[in-house]
Amino acid sequence: MFKISNKYKNQRPKDQNIMGFATIAIHSGQEPDPTTGAVTVPIYQTSTYAQDGLGRHKGYEYARTQNPTRTAVEKNIAALEGARFGFAFASGMAAIDATLRLIKAGEHVIVSDNTYGGTARLFTKILANYNIEFDFVDTSDALNVEAAIKPNTKMVFVETPTNPIMTVTDLKAVAEVAHRAGARVVCDNTFMSPYLQRPLEFGVDIVVHSTTKYLNGHSDGIGGMVVLNDETDANWIGFVQNSAGAILSPFDSWLVIRGTKTLALRMEQHDKSGRTVAAFLEEHPKVHKVYYPGSASHPQHALAKRQQRGFGGMVSFDVGSLEAARIVLESVKLCTLAESLGGVETLICHPATMTHASVDPDKRQRLGITDGLVRISVGIEDTDDIVADLDQALKKL
Ligand SMILES: *Cc1c(COP(=O)(O)O)cnc(C)c1O
Repeated sequence: MFKISNKYKNQRPKDQNIMGFATIAIHSGQEPDPTTGAVTVPIYQTSTYAQDGLGRHKGYEYARTQNPTRTAVEKNIAALEGARFGFAFASGMAAIDATLRLIKAGEHVIVSDNTYGGTARLFTKILANYNIEFDFVDTSDALNVEAAIKPNTKMVFVETPTNPIMTVTDLKAVAEVAHRAGARVVCDNTFMSPYLQRPLEFGVDIVVHSTTKYLNGHSDGIGGMVVLNDETDANWIGFVQNSAGAILSPFDSWLVIRGTKTLALRMEQHDKSGRTVAAFLEEHPKVHKVYYPGSASHPQHALAKRQQRGFGGMVSFDVGSLEAARIVLESVKLCTLAESLGGVETLICHPATMTHASVDPDKRQRLGITDGLVRISVGIEDTDDIVADLDQALKKL
């Protein structure tokens, strides 16, 4: 576990005029290497560290416990979220699993009913076996969270906007309800990244990320992060990280700090092109419905505007049937048919048969994940090329 320097501690919007987001992204945790002056944090590819004598070392003993490249990414992303503590894990799922180790047998967790499929799978198929109780509710209405609270509720786990329907949860309202009941709030901020949404500012206690997506941003590494302010909980997450050992490797840590350096620029472009693609789809006669919090037609547009700095690059749209979706997905040339999101390249997928295939068909229908739904992670290629590719694919319908 580490403490970030006072310089970046409690970074909040009010002091952003002192240090802006892009500056923090490029410099926090990344002082030039003290031995050589290397501007880029080196990949410390080592398993152990020479000690000067018994009990005398430079703060590094064994690389599961500490690695300087991992420390750099942990400090960096904690600073970007305005958090005191950060911990890097081997994947987003490992980060979420470590966070759930704050919960003990006999305790209860409320979860957004439309989380990433892997999150629901971890909770219901694995953690439920250890006498942890989960209730899945529509957290877009804080009253649903309030109604689900029990005397043993210790955590509310939300994802906003949700995948792929882009439902927004009011973080401040949910935090108030949860805190009244003595429960922590965890937010999976993967879809927005700290550039577009900083959940701790709305009273959320813990933020988790799949760094695989926007934080890395180049579709070349799997990783996860947990950031938080509470020292007792941070000590426990650090203890779990070291004890269970699902750490981020030095090379993958390096890839993520390489990625966050351009996070501000990339998110600006994802957001700009996301808006353009959503507007194009809304006007298209073959598109039945568009799901994008940046659209004035989105039922929670006002909340998204208040809570987010932008709307990002994730857009879903319905073309009416499985057959129509198949034609679009098999006709695109620039967009790549693939799972995952948040990379520089535009990815397109079919939630019902790909990312959400494990969700039972009834629940899929209830959530709006129809057979005609297509999800696009708008990349940072030239916007005109992305729109032209979608246009030529939609013309086949
Ligand atoms: C991808 C993803 C995860 C899981 O992360 P991995 O790095 O694949 O383990 C969790 N939450 C969200 C929202 C995701 O998109």
